[in-house]
Amino acid sequence: MALHRSRAVVIGRKALGESDRLVEFYTRDFGKVRGVAKSARRPRSRFVAALEPFTLGDLVFFDTGRSELVRVDHFDILHPFVRVREHLERLGRGAWTVECLARLSADRDPHPALFGLLVRSLRALEGGTSPARVAVCFGVRAVDLLGHRPRIDRCVECGRASPFPDAVLDVEAGGLVCGPCGPRAHAIPLSGGAVGTLGRLRGLSWEEGLRLPLSPALDEELTGVLEGTVTRLMGQVPRSLRFLAQTRRPLPPVLS
Ligand SMILES: [Zn+2]
Repeated sequence: MALHRSRAVVIGRKALGESDRLVEFYTRDFGKVRGVAKSARRPRSRFVAALEPFTLGDLVFFDTGRSELVRVDHFDILHPFVRVREHLERLGRGAWTVECLARLSADRDPHPALFGLLVRSLRALEGGTSPARVAVCFGVRAVDLLGHRPRIDRCVECGRASPFPDAVLDVEAGGLVCGPCGPRAHAIPLSGGAVGTLGRLRGLSWEEGLRLPLSPALDEELTGVLEGTVTRLMGQVPRSLRFLAQTRRPLPPVLS
């Protein structure tokens, strides 16, 4: 039995038994850690309000060595990121970032750069940057850090140098594929402008990426490309994207 501590963000949770909670954290020092917070759903629990999604805190946990689930001992709030939860678009994009880490990272695989990226993304969402832009900048870096960086400088099949017309991104193949080497199922169409901007975003600093002026059409295309890439890597549509789609459903017409 070992006691550990690390800075951590709550990336998921669900009810367990009568009064416990199963909580997923992304920690700076241990990567993804899943644990049981005993009696967390009781009104006078010491965890009250601390285990809300996106909350940044100091986590203390016991590793019993007998289960992949740890025992959550303490979680002291450093920053709750309340404003991320108070706005539908911010909430949906924030949920997408934590879902990426919950689904695409392995348990106990420490990656301090991913932890730093998550906290920067939550800060940017809270600070009022366009939520979709935060998601794009997070997505470009997260896919890279998780080891799935797609090749965009040439066709991964024939080696033809990019840019070329009718480019598609084939996530499983690991990058761009040119028209003559396609067509292929599940590939994501990509304009020359989007390929160029993805390349630029990789080279820019975090702040520069958040502020890079882009046309609304290109902004929207990049959002779709990153959403599509992550969906392919996960093998299914993330719950957060279903939620975002619902928030955009047109309101029913008002009868006059
Ligand atoms: Zn080709």
